[in-house]
Amino acid sequence: MPELPEVEVLARHLRPLIRGKTIRAVNVRRAKVLRPTAPRKFRRTLQGAKFNGVSRRGKYLLFQLRTRAGGKPIALLGHLGMTGRIFLAQKDRPLPKHAAVALDLGASNLVYEDTRYFGRLTLDISAVTRLGPEPLEDEFKAETFAQSLKRSRQAIKVKLLDQKLVAGIGNIYASEALFRARISPKLAANKLTGTQVQRLRLAIRAVLAEAIECGSTVPLNLKGNKSDGLFYFGRAPGAPDFYEERLRVYDREARPCPNCRRPIKRITQAARSTFYCPHCQRAR
Ligand SMILES: [Zn+2]
Repeated sequence: MPELPEVEVLARHLRPLIRGKTIRAVNVRRAKVLRPTAPRKFRRTLQGAKFNGVSRRGKYLLFQLRTRAGGKPIALLGHLGMTGRIFLAQKDRPLPKHAAVALDLGASNLVYEDTRYFGRLTLDISAVTRLGPEPLEDEFKAETFAQSLKRSRQAIKVKLLDQKLVAGIGNIYASEALFRARISPKLAANKLTGTQVQRLRLAIRAVLAEAIECGSTVPLNLKGNKSDGLFYFGRAPGAPDFYEERLRVYDREARPCPNCRRPIKRITQAARSTFYCPHCQRAR
């Protein structure tokens, strides 16, 4: 599931490709992903609109457009959910089976594909107003972070998934940041010492920044060495596994800890998997 780094890499990838492109036609095949926007309003608003750019907030993509008449600004919000993908596809190729929305940009379609339809492509951007600070920006303040943790008795791993605490962290980077900060995922958030909070804040920034850097160097559209215009998280079939190899604990149960060589453990917290090293990440 894509988290902040993957969405950031996708935004950077799409930005130059869509900038200045006009939406000639709007093809909605699964209205569910537009919710709460009605399909009719979605079509009317976007028909003839022009893309200015795309940015990221938390795990969301925010497309900036201008209307055909009057040039009024429009924001289009994309969330990939569990299985969503957004990519440009040549218009002469058939749309993939699970294409939920296709925006006709002339020679290509901007396609939103989702096999399970948990994601969103919508004109309702209220979700981003409820997000906490961006972890890589100055607004992610040490003091505010410490105060928020002090108010929570949840296990720190579970608390890190709270998008109001800090935006964009999911299951992968919560485990990775805690490993980097040498903090047990089971420790209650309000039990972290001042030093641990500081270490955790820096570890969050480090793992996210590294993942963006790594993701930016990975070819996004390799499939058996042939470009198919699609974006793959992790490993595309036939491509080397260099994207996942950089993770130190996530999805590495029973494999040796990179620090102490003892086996990585998997536990379940709030119905999701956590990976950690019980030796390097002690409760105290
Ligand atoms: Zn270890």
